[in-house]
Amino acid sequence: MSTTLESALLPTYPPTRVTFVEGDGAWLTDDTGRRYLDFAGGIAVVALGHRHPAPLAAAHAQLDKLWHASNLFGTEPARALAQRLSDRFGGAQAFFCNSGAEANEAALKYARKATGKPGVIALEQGFHGRTTGALAVTGQPSKRAAFEPLLPGARFAQPNDVESLCAAASDDVGLVLLEPVLGEGGVIPLEPAFVAAAAALAEELGALLAFDEVQTGVGRTGTFFAFEQLGVRPQLVTLAKALANGLPIGCLLVADEAAGAFIPGDHGSTFGGNPVACAAAVAVCDAVDDELLAQVRANGERLLNGLAELPGVVDTRGLGHLVGAELSGPAQPVVDAALDAGLVCLTSGANVLRLAPPLVVETPEIDRALEILMEVASR
Ligand code: PLP
Repeated sequence: MSTTLESALLPTYPPTRVTFVEGDGAWLTDDTGRRYLDFAGGIAVVALGHRHPAPLAAAHAQLDKLWHASNLFGTEPARALAQRLSDRFGGAQAFFCNSGAEANEAALKYARKATGKPGVIALEQGFHGRTTGALAVTGQPSKRAAFEPLLPGARFAQPNDVESLCAAASDDVGLVLLEPVLGEGGVIPLEPAFVAAAAALAEELGALLAFDEVQTGVGRTGTFFAFEQLGVRPQLVTLAKALANGLPIGCLLVADEAAGAFIPGDHGSTFGGNPVACAAAVAVCDAVDDELLAQVRANGERLLNGLAELPGVVDTRGLGHLVGAELSGPAQPVVDAALDAGLVCLTSGANVLRLAPPLVVETPEIDRALEILMEVASR
């Protein structure tokens, strides 16, 4: 498998060697009929596994009823999903859009309007999306460099470094934006003490605290929201990836305590709240129950323990089904060799191998994935 596939797609992604045509649970099939164990989950998206019956049935039923009506009118699935998320959060209102970057754009605008202040504190190595606002607060200079000047006012602190957080403080800051686990920046879980300091700083500055749970949300870390494990309740949360198990959706949740900044006309999205995506998302929310969350926590431990045994691993980190193994060298060759051996996995930064399998993955599948990685890493 050394040739890559040419196409008429704009080359924003590295060339690929594999074309997937079907998915089933934690398995993918390519166009030659070969099966792969999927420990990337479409980059932390396919939480319930491919073609899970619950969102599949909900989306099918909604496809047969109504595809689109616009946000000038109400739809039942969007209202039902907003209520589910409000109940999970403990009192919040939802704005629906189509992706993680859009959800973060909504958070940036909300905080600006609510506080009247343009500054944002975000984290080095953090990732919030590719649109220009979300990119401006993404702490990865190589992704920003070709597109400067971006939105002004972003300041970056080091993850888990309270001193650098305080050094980023300024009266013009209206938003403190954190990923509970930096999913693209090396799988770095934030420590509760750091998050508590960030919450205190946000309050002192009159800023809103937002958690970008685009990657960590909807059960991936073993709780519905990762912030539940951090002892801090934010004013804003953004969700996307896993919410509709693969149909495009994004969401900004605004806690009831921070309500009232947006009025009609302040923000919008033609496709936001799409009935089919929202119907699938309602089914996902209902499926992510206490039993599944407990399974995610237990299997996450199993994954971390297994990764620690691999040759060349210098550190393991993560929560639930978002785990990383920092290698002594680049992670991409390991990911490439694993793909050749029938396992789909991810990198996170240059040296970190990242696994984000479906939440429903079975123990024998975890053991098989670890076996493949052991074989590949031992070469
Ligand atoms: N925020 C986080 C934490 C992410 O991991 C991502 C995508 O990887 C995004 C935002 C951007 O989401 P999207 O690609 O749906 O715009």
